Formats: sequence, C-alpha cells, structure tokens
Amino acid sequence: MKEEIIKNELMRVEAAAVEIVKAQKLDLSTFSKIISKYPDSISYLKRNLDKIENPGLWFEDAKSVLICLFRYNSELEHDKINEIERDPQGFLERKKIKIPEFIKGKKFSIARYARPDDYHRVLREKVEKALKKAKEKIHALKWKIFVDSSPVAEKIWAAMSGLAFTGKNTLAINEKTGSYFNIAGAMLNIETDSAGSEAKSLCGDCLKCVQACPTGALTPYVLNPERCISYWTTHNRKSSAPPPEILPYCEKNFGCDICQEVCPYNQK
Ligand code: SF4
Ligand code: SF4
Repeated sequence: MKEEIIKNELMRVEAAAVEIVKAQKLDLSTFSKIISKYPDSISYLKRNLDKIENPGLWFEDAKSVLICLFRYNSELEHDKINEIERDPQGFLERKKIKIPEFIKGKKFSIARYARPDDYHRVLREKVEKALKKAKEKIHALKWKIFVDSSPVAEKIWAAMSGLAFTGKNTLAINEKTGSYFNIAGAMLNIETDSAGSEAKSLCGDCLKCVQACPTGALTPYVLNPERCISYWTTHNRKSSAPPPEILPYCEKNFGCDICQEVCPYNQK
C-alpha cells in the first residue's frame, strides 16, 4: 500500500519506471575492480566505498531504496535545437557548464543528455515533490534523495530492482525504454518485501557498442575512461588535453552518444 502510494506519486512527476527494493549490503567486488582503474578526477567513488556498500552509513534510517528512471527530455523545442546547432559553445556558457579548453572555439556537437536543463536539479525537485506528496498519506515517511552525485550505486540498485540491466556499454538499459534515461531515487525509511534480484544482461551475442566506439574505450562491460570522449569532455576536471589519438574525436563532441545510438534497445 505505502509502496503503491509512493510509486503513483513518482509516475505523476513523469518517472518512466519506478521500483522499491529492500536496502541491503551490496556485493561490490565487480564494481570495486572496475573503479580501481578510474582516474583521480572521479575518485569520489573510491573514497566512499563503505557508504556505497552499506546504505545505512549514508542514511541511517534506510530500510528500502526507491529507484526511478526518467527519460532524457529529448522533446526540445525547435528553437533550442537550432540554438545548440548554431552556437554550441554559447549554449553551454549560458547553462554555466564548464567547457574544456581543447574544444573552445571548435565546432562541436552536444550529446543528448547534456542538452536539457541540469538533470541533477530537475530530478531532485521531481523526487522531492513526489515524496512530499506521498508524506501527506504516509506521515512517518523519511527519505534522502540521490541523483548521480551521492555515494549510491544507482546502476546496481536499478539492476537489483529489476528495472535495468547493465549493458556491455556499461550503461543501465531498460528492456522497453532503452538507455536514454537518468536514474534518480531516494533511500526510504519504509520496509518492503521486495528483496530484489539482479537483472541479468540481455546483450546476448551483440557487440555493436564495443565495435562502434571510435576510440576503443569499451571492452564488454568495462569502460576505460581515459579513452572515452564523454569522460574527457564532460567529467574530466584536469586541465590536460586527451592523448593525441583521442583528441580529434573530443574536439568534435561535448559528451558522446555513439555507444547508445547503436544499441538495439534504443532503436524503438
Ligand atoms: S561514450 Fe563514446 S567514447 Fe565513450 S565508450 Fe561510448 S562510444 Fe566510446
Ligand atoms: S549495443 Fe548490444 S552489446 Fe552494447 S549494450 Fe546494447 S545490446 Fe548490449
């Protein structure tokens, strides 16, 4: 009953899919191995492994985890799309997004996820609004929201909840929605019977993303950030430029959609 109230409120703020799964200690053996190779600029993940593994260390009342998928706002108005194509640098500057030195003054394209307003703020507001509404009926409800920048393994929880499997491109993929979505959610203080079980990969023999990646950043289920266009243009906070063999690709892109565009789950 409580779960239904919460899920309904999330659907009202346009979540494409919602699940609630029991908060539990996670097995981070694969995750730790992957992030051990990550550069220092995303080392916050390494520093917070204890909280990622044990939700109660991040939110002491954690009994369950709310996971929501929100599709990218791809329905941008015509004017906005023209604005991006005409002046991508000006578009990012107006949004106060840091532009790497090595693409300043170049003609670059902007990946889908970087076009709408900052999803961290927008999705936090949506989840907050839905949970406040749910609290009108569940008075004891307490929560702590996460949107991509908290010590929470969103992809693992999305897999545990059955909402998304992890593809060979390392992204969360929903069988019906594909991967053009952001994950947001909250740790909740309500109990659930749903223990969850990890969604198995539905990639099968497909290798399209691995083969299409222009810089060889992917081996199945593992991303090498040091070769990834998206990492260099949107995550990297070092002032240095990418390696020479990667630089020409980075000069033409802010973010990169290629390993999503080729995925059969995004063809619908
Ligand atoms: S985002 Fe682009 S560069 Fe990075 S892994 Fe995907 S296809 Fe390769
Ligand atoms: S392109 Fe193929 S291998 Fe890559 S994530 Fe999609 S289904 Fe999996």
